[in-house]
Amino acid sequence: MDQQQPEPVSYLCGDCGVENTLKPGDVIQCRECALQEANPPHCPI
Ligand SMILES: [Zn+2]
Repeated sequence: MDQQQPEPVSYLCGDCGVENTLKPGDVIQCRECALQEANPPHCPI
């Protein structure tokens, strides 16, 4: 039996230029930008 494995999709962010590897069904979102939004550099730890 053949199993079709989902092929990862490369998504190049237009903001920071980081290439993200997404799986089919994943939300197309840049991980780097998402991290920056979650942790703004202005916020001191
Ligand atoms: Zn980005």
